[in-house]
Amino acid sequence: MVSRKIKLLIPKERGEIIPIVFVLALITIYVTFELYVILPAIYNNIFTYKEVCHLIFGLYIIYNLVGNLFICMATDTSIDTIICPVLLPPPTVTTTNTQQDMIFQYCNWHYCYQCEVNVPPRSQHCHLCKKCILKRDHHCSFLGRCIGFRNIRYYMCFLIWTWIGLFYCNILHVDYTYELVGTFSWRVIVACLFPFGAWLFRLLDHFSLFLSFICSTSIVLSLYILFLIIQQIYLIINGQTWHEYGKNIQIYSNQKNLQANLEIIFGKRWFFILFSPLISSPLIGDGMSFDIKMTETADARYFQTKRI
Ligand SMILES: [Zn+2]
Ligand SMILES: [Zn+2]
Repeated sequence: MVSRKIKLLIPKERGEIIPIVFVLALITIYVTFELYVILPAIYNNIFTYKEVCHLIFGLYIIYNLVGNLFICMATDTSIDTIICPVLLPPPTVTTTNTQQDMIFQYCNWHYCYQCEVNVPPRSQHCHLCKKCILKRDHHCSFLGRCIGFRNIRYYMCFLIWTWIGLFYCNILHVDYTYELVGTFSWRVIVACLFPFGAWLFRLLDHFSLFLSFICSTSIVLSLYILFLIIQQIYLIINGQTWHEYGKNIQIYSNQKNLQANLEIIFGKRWFFILFSPLISSPLIGDGMSFDIKMTETADARYFQTKRI
């Protein structure tokens, strides 16, 4: 079991190696920069009460960020661990409208021609991972892995802790810039907004260019990660995966409250998972059967509320 997780953790192909090396390099650069440049500049004495608090909080962020990242990658979210039936089970979602063929195909047990096996509803083949993923959400280019039923919890926590880390860096950078320049002048504003331009016109030296580059990328990255978090929260509220949102499949968008949707995605102890990736939170369901809602259209009433 442990050796299988280690095998999953190790990237094998170029499409997996490049993004994860990029992500780990970025984390290392930021941690080193904050630890050796920013913090000593803000607090002259390394043993001040405030600096120790910053260090402890920083380490806690890194623990959660890296822990969730590694567990997300080491979790087998494919259909390899389940026993798929040899005969295709009869469809439980039926459609009367030919335009609903895609829903019929996706929301029933169906045959995957690449894996050559019958796969459960909401599973989908990933051409990059080269396998079918249980309740597939999307393929994350930064982790080089698919996000599905079993690892979406770690993916979401990774995103949230990355955003907290970047937000925290941005606050420290503002402190540092103020400490460095004393006041905000037009030179500082130009240097922050257009670091390369300011460097070309010799308003910045090489080290300041590097500082500006780190500070501006942390702002851009934090905004991008915030956008991803908001996107995922929207999908959780709607009970949809990213693929279902793209195809406008709403038969799993049940009318349950937000707490029920959080339990489905993050498990029974959803309110604890953000504190540590090691806290266990058993998932509800098996990733193969889901509640569907009754849908009425002008053509027909073709879905019933039932468990498939
Ligand atoms: Zn497949
Ligand atoms: Zn994939």
